[in-house]
Amino acid sequence: MLKVCKFGGTSMATAENILKVKEILQADRERRFVVVSAPGKRFSGDKKITDCLYQSYDEAKKTGRCGQSFEEVKERFLALEKELGVNVEMQRLLEEIEEKILRTLTPDYAASCGEFLCAKLLSAVMGYEFIDSRELVMFDYKGKLNAEYTNDVTKNRLATVDGGAIIPGFYGVMPNGNIKTFTRGGSDITGAIVARATDASVYENWTDVNGFLIADPRIVPNPKHIRSLSYKELRELSYMGAEVLHPESIFPVKVAGIPVLIKNTFAPQVEGTAILPDIDEQEGVITGIAGKRGITGILVEKGLMNAEVGFTRKILSVLERYNISFEHLPSGVDTMSIVISDHELEGRTFQLVEDIKKAVSPDKIEVQSGLSLIATVGHGMCYKPGTAAKIFTALSKCGVNIRMIDQGSSELNIIVAVSEEDYEKAINAIYKEFIDDFR
Ligand code: ASP
Repeated sequence: MLKVCKFGGTSMATAENILKVKEILQADRERRFVVVSAPGKRFSGDKKITDCLYQSYDEAKKTGRCGQSFEEVKERFLALEKELGVNVEMQRLLEEIEEKILRTLTPDYAASCGEFLCAKLLSAVMGYEFIDSRELVMFDYKGKLNAEYTNDVTKNRLATVDGGAIIPGFYGVMPNGNIKTFTRGGSDITGAIVARATDASVYENWTDVNGFLIADPRIVPNPKHIRSLSYKELRELSYMGAEVLHPESIFPVKVAGIPVLIKNTFAPQVEGTAILPDIDEQEGVITGIAGKRGITGILVEKGLMNAEVGFTRKILSVLERYNISFEHLPSGVDTMSIVISDHELEGRTFQLVEDIKKAVSPDKIEVQSGLSLIATVGHGMCYKPGTAAKIFTALSKCGVNIRMIDQGSSELNIIVAVSEEDYEKAINAIYKEFIDDFR
């Protein structure tokens, strides 16, 4: 039996926290493979090492020198080496990295160094082997993870480990040898890759909260804790903004059916949240509520749209040309809404609308900005009639106008769009309506 652990940025932020990590690892000898993030914020208002590294890259590009941000990186890592009482030749590693940031000038290389150095430190603290992720995580030439190749390579490499190993999260390598990172928070994916490759009994993801909450505590005061959820529910919730785990990290563990356990480094005795292939007992209807702001709907209206073969394809090919992926596409007889996140639009809405007009000559096209999406998620919904009615009643009782409704065919979630001013009010109303049903 072996366990894979991933420790997030807060767990690695200070020497004191790293010693807590050490205790957690020593408490269970099955915790043999460990993936780490770069040191995160030590206090509110502090900087994450990864952010400093991206800034170092920007400064290097503009001025030819790494500048102040890299000084902060140096200072923090040298202090960590000293406080932890280990010797990883930090000064020399930092000099090499600074030189290489200037030479390679890729943001991905710069950003990867936080995880690299942090793993070096923990490997010295634990006396475990350090394994660079460039030996394990393989991207293709387009920068997409080559999942099967990565699994083969990682499996073979980790089979040679005697004892424990510390692996930096967040990055891997492209066929030309260049470093490539996942999107932000991507160390969770590395952890899942390692769990799959080692056929771990569990993937423990150690963070600074007690697991998933039913709703965002910044919106709902003291929301209940989620004890367990399924892979599918996790996908829905994390895609819709629940921030505990990277939305893509579920794929490697799903292939192997490995459970994920979210645990708190600062309260290891707390049960946490288990993410399981399937949930057997359906205690409640709803598992969680998540949402995101910054959404725009483009409403396209055209008589006999439904009879026009290829209508949707024409619209989607415009989006494809712009490399825009949409969130939802609810449609009526003569209407269709394309629901898109603002960061995909990047200020190109006007151009996009013009191109849609050219492609399908609609009777009317209208842009609805300032929207937000709210997903109410739970397997229980499939079995319990009246769930949608409950959501809509809650919203109508508090005077929130629903701008769009989408229920996926999985019956796992119901998504509504509301205007941004109503976002928090709506989440609170749904939470209150279901509070007794939460498992
Ligand atoms: N250090 C990276 C970030 O801040 C990746 C991670 O922590 O998972 O996004």
